[in-house]
Amino acid sequence: MTTLRARLLYPVASPVVEDGMVCVEDGTIRSWGRWDGRPAEDLGDVILMPGLINAHCHLDYSVMRGAILPCASFTRWIRRINDLKRTLDDDDWLPSVAAGFRELIASGTTSVFNIEAFPDLMPQMPPPPIRTWWFIEMIDLRHPVEPEDVAARARTFFSERPGWIGGIGLSPHAPYTASPDLCAQSARCCEAQALPLTTHLAESDEESEMFLDAGGPLHDFFAGIGRDMSDTGGISPVARMLRDGGLPDGALLAHMNRIEDSDWPLLRGRKFSVIHCPLCHEYFGRPPFPLDRFLAEGINVCLGTDSLASNRELNLFAEIRRLLETHPHVAPMSAIRFVTTNPARAIGWAGRLGEVSAGAAADLIAIPYSGPAKAAAEAVVRHSGPVAWTMLAGRKT
Ligand SMILES: [Zn+2]
Repeated sequence: MTTLRARLLYPVASPVVEDGMVCVEDGTIRSWGRWDGRPAEDLGDVILMPGLINAHCHLDYSVMRGAILPCASFTRWIRRINDLKRTLDDDDWLPSVAAGFRELIASGTTSVFNIEAFPDLMPQMPPPPIRTWWFIEMIDLRHPVEPEDVAARARTFFSERPGWIGGIGLSPHAPYTASPDLCAQSARCCEAQALPLTTHLAESDEESEMFLDAGGPLHDFFAGIGRDMSDTGGISPVARMLRDGGLPDGALLAHMNRIEDSDWPLLRGRKFSVIHCPLCHEYFGRPPFPLDRFLAEGINVCLGTDSLASNRELNLFAEIRRLLETHPHVAPMSAIRFVTTNPARAIGWAGRLGEVSAGAAADLIAIPYSGPAKAAAEAVVRHSGPVAWTMLAGRKT
């Protein structure tokens, strides 16, 4: 049993405790509360809290920081990243993933939902240094993809590697790159096997134009490369995804920037989570994100960084700061839930991740702070730079 003591303990799911204590055994939090005088490792003048959870990231592309100038045209960005991908190979992708992990850990992230475009490289990777859900990316523009086979391979891979903590999921990439059939098969597979599913949805105006009007630059780009465009015209991206059963209940929907009035009733009662990436949003100069409407609809909102191809850092504290610049009415405590308890719920780990509670994973971070307890949440959302201390599954990193 390891006992940690800190001047302030911020469990997230409960109020701040002064002179707090967390008792850890076998990678799990056994108990917590006010320090009772027992021998403990004293972390001192810090806020001890759950490690953060990045709900949308592509570690593959960590090598692309600064490689694509910010541009309002999503189609141009897609062309550019496709060109860049053709210039890179395995010797670039593997260090890129490792560099991304280092950046996440340094800034207090202890879990990541990573979209993996190159699952064939995973056998060459060391065990991930943080809790990682590997969402296998699927695109069937050029070749058919069988989600059952993809899931079976990922399951076998993961079951043979007990040192890899986290899990697997499927990611049909987006309605413009994953056919209605692929999306429907993925949804059925995830429902049958209780796997999480994530996808990019309603991200750009060009995506909406492609499906609603069967026109615009994204439509023309995909028509030009031979995509079957029969699913476009007169339908929103959200409705296209839902029409053929393309989303299981509880799916993790990245971006959701452009929601039509007719989409809102379709989203109700389906336990979807929405993942907002504030700095990527800024990078593309998007119109305001409909955060208040999602919250009013009772939708579980999480934050992610997306990749370094459309962001300058993989730092959830920076994402929270940007969110509070654009939505200053959001309480710091709510913003912190977007990177702790909410993504834990999204992945099916409510009460077991993203909070300090008995039975939760001992994934913890400490932030230097010497101010009053009542301002602890403000101190967390103002934090910049590396965290002072990290514990993953009961082990100090
Ligand atoms: Zn993404």
